[in-house]
Amino acid sequence: MEECIFCKIAKGEIPSERILETENFFAIKDANPKVKGHALVIPKKHYGTLLDVPSSLLGEFFETAKQLALKLLEKEKAEGFNVVVNNYEVAGQLVPHVHIHILPRKKDDGFRMNV
Ligand code: AMP
Ligand code: ZN
Repeated sequence: MEECIFCKIAKGEIPSERILETENFFAIKDANPKVKGHALVIPKKHYGTLLDVPSSLLGEFFETAKQLALKLLEKEKAEGFNVVVNNYEVAGQLVPHVHIHILPRKKDDGFRMNV
């Protein structure tokens, strides 16, 4: 996937500030934050959707999301957070390299998710 933006970030071809990093994953701030502190957990290897991630990596994937959520709750002084994974274009996936969104939430932050 030569053109994939998250592969380029993973390889360091596009510079990024990593909020945290594990053996197989890293987290960065979302370039277009829906709320303050909005960040993404991204696998270093290219997997299209959650269905392509090997089951052996799912624990580390969600543990990294948990650690990111803890960090963002503290940093943003947030009172809660949403975890979102969009899979396939029809579900709103714009970058075809799977990622977990963590959205720190505060009362009256104006963000609405109708799930
Ligand atoms: P999704 O709709 O789930 O595929 O979300 C893709 C997310 O990636 C969006 O929230 C974008 O703002 C974000 N994004 C796209 N390009 C970059 C980038 N170069 N660095 C950080 N975030 C990005
Ligand atoms: Zn990729």
